[in-house]
Amino acid sequence: MKYTDNRQVFTWNEETQSGIPYVSFRMLDELGYPNLYTTRYRNWDKAKGTGAKGIRIAYMKGEDVAEARSVISKNLGLLAEDMGSNLNHLVVTHQLHTANVKMIGEEDLGYWKSVEIEDGIDGLVTNVPNACLVVYGADCPSIYIVDPVKHAIGLVHAGWKGTFGKIPEAAIAMMQSAYGSNPADMYAAIGPSICEDCYEMGDEIYDMLAEQWGMEDAELLMKRHESGKYHLDLWQANRLTLERAGVPSNHIEVTNICTCCNVDDFYSYRAHKMENEQAAMLVNRGGRT
Ligand SMILES: [Zn+2]
Repeated sequence: MKYTDNRQVFTWNEETQSGIPYVSFRMLDELGYPNLYTTRYRNWDKAKGTGAKGIRIAYMKGEDVAEARSVISKNLGLLAEDMGSNLNHLVVTHQLHTANVKMIGEEDLGYWKSVEIEDGIDGLVTNVPNACLVVYGADCPSIYIVDPVKHAIGLVHAGWKGTFGKIPEAAIAMMQSAYGSNPADMYAAIGPSICEDCYEMGDEIYDMLAEQWGMEDAELLMKRHESGKYHLDLWQANRLTLERAGVPSNHIEVTNICTCCNVDDFYSYRAHKMENEQAAMLVNRGGRT
């Protein structure tokens, strides 16, 4: 891990029970919500300051489904146990760059059940105690949302399409209507993902943002760099959506870790294409003993 975290937003967890290293948000840790974001490492040797790479944590197209799921379920199960949860309380998404969010009840829990969830779900919300939500990303931000008052959580995958579609707002709205959550009580964290410098986009994407969000937002969130190409700031865009949905700005954290600038440590779609992804995980435990 060679980047610096000047603002002390996250913790780099090297010595974990599972042996799998990960990053976690201090703010969410302090609120009592176990959370993590994996890296490319299967394990980490603290003495050597390096680790074995190549963890398989997400199913990739073209893989043998049964074989991949047996490896993935083992890794996710170990990580869930690190967080005081387990595979039977875990739910994974079938994300397709939508702004669709699914409400997870007691009856939906369990990895093997959740792999059958319909396609096109990019976010999950729940108020079931100890439920462990999982979304994937390799450049796309994962956004963690917790409501310590109503004991509810949300986790969404927000690539540029989900970001433009305001998926964090959809999760917050669902938590308000289903659980009586007040956004003013919520905390949110924007996970490791591609930075503005690395995220070059075509002019048509700028036009799309201007059409959907208005010119003022488009000018704020997409700037022309020296190359003449537009770059999109996914961190700022999602922070804006969270704030406009009513989450206080001092309740929002961004890791500032770019997956594409740190290709040794993270899978990056732009850098590695479809090698694999990171898992973002969040357990609904806060405020409970
Ligand atoms: Zn970058």
